[in-house]
Amino acid sequence: MDPKSPDFVVVGGGTVGAAIAYGLARNGLSVMLLDEGDIAHRAARGNFGNIWVQGKGHNNPAYADLTRAAANSWASYANELQAETEIDLHFRRPGAFYLCFTHEDFQKRTAMMRAIDRAASVSSPFEILDGSELRKRLAGVGPSIVGATFSPDDGTANPLHLLRALILAFQRRGGAYRPRCKLLSFRPEGMGYTLETTDGVTAGSRIVLAAGLANKELAAIAGINAPVRPVRGQVLVTEKLAPFLDYGTNFIRQTVEGGCIIGESSEEAGFDDGTTLPILRETARRAAQAFPILKHARVVRSWGALRIMTPDGIPVYEESSQLPGVYAVSVHSGVTLAPFHSSALVEKLIQGRLGGDLAPFSSRRFNVQKA
Ligand SMILES: Cc1cc2nc3c(=O)[nH]c(=O)nc-3n(C[C@H](O)[C@H](O)[C@H](O)COP(=O)(O)OP(=O)(O)OC[C@H]3O[C@@H](n4cnc5c(N)ncnc54)[C@H](O)[C@@H]3O)c2cc1C
Repeated sequence: MDPKSPDFVVVGGGTVGAAIAYGLARNGLSVMLLDEGDIAHRAARGNFGNIWVQGKGHNNPAYADLTRAAANSWASYANELQAETEIDLHFRRPGAFYLCFTHEDFQKRTAMMRAIDRAASVSSPFEILDGSELRKRLAGVGPSIVGATFSPDDGTANPLHLLRALILAFQRRGGAYRPRCKLLSFRPEGMGYTLETTDGVTAGSRIVLAAGLANKELAAIAGINAPVRPVRGQVLVTEKLAPFLDYGTNFIRQTVEGGCIIGESSEEAGFDDGTTLPILRETARRAAQAFPILKHARVVRSWGALRIMTPDGIPVYEESSQLPGVYAVSVHSGVTLAPFHSSALVEKLIQGRLGGDLAPFSSRRFNVQKA
């Protein structure tokens, strides 16, 4: 292997890969970041921008703790990236309401929040608000919303600014960014790996696979089971409106510029990332039910994007046992977890060990036979 080969090749320049690449470069390592480009599915460019804590980690306290700790690091992370790049991430943490449309939903939500709270080690306060309490706290909410849970730990950021800042900060730290460069395959050679790409052959000592939905095939080359599947979300954006929503919610947020981003659908639609009228109509209907002011807002844009979903919705952080130094990272909540990916995960990658407190995120959990 060429002695000038980078310490790490990170595959996938979405929010996850870019956060890891930036963190590695910040630690003084030489890093190459490969990204297939616009023809690939790219969740990083279609997501909602919530830094979402409440309800995360039901039946998995380790995931609840990971999410809570990452969200608690977001303010300093946003400041750090802004200092590195002069890009404002529009990070805010006013807290968010999860709106319940039915009594059944409200009861289930309440029980789930209490169960997570009992099991988690990192504390995260929350409130349960019935309809009348909710209306005192959240101006403009519709009369049919039966209640909500509120967490002061939830926040929002502009996901496109985040991605741009991560890649710029990575480059300013000396990282080599190679867009429109798709990894085709890789194999061990000498003390590292040879990688075959659409842009020629390259090499690196270690490889981090963070290629979103492509991780399933790429990780299999290293014998890692990363059974991610696409789950489509459809999103609407309204025209710019006068500020009316000071908080986040589970499916509507008003951006700094005034437009509302609205989306909550979750569909098994294969690799089709288009939009459909029935889903968009239902999304708009529920948005107007939640905030009647939206009834007359014009929709200016809509899109579909594919979530990167593991069978249990929990991240995969795994090192290959067949090819040491090859790691797979598959995550749905890449915005929320970005501070973790740039720091604590990077420290573990540098040490070359993903065990310990990351053991619950091993993909070996999918290998357990069903009784
Ligand atoms: C509708 C929707 C809403 C969401 N809302 C939120 C939210 O509110 N909060 C939150 O935290 N998360 C949210 N997410 C999830 C979030 O978008 C992802 O976790 C995030 O984008 C990170 O994903 P990623 O980097 O793993 O994948 P992607 O963003 O898909 O990036 C993968 C990258 O890998 C590249 N690639 C693929 N194959 C190859 C290859 N062979 N060689 C080189 N490069 C390759 C692609 O070009 C792509 O850029 C949402 C997702 C969706 C779809």
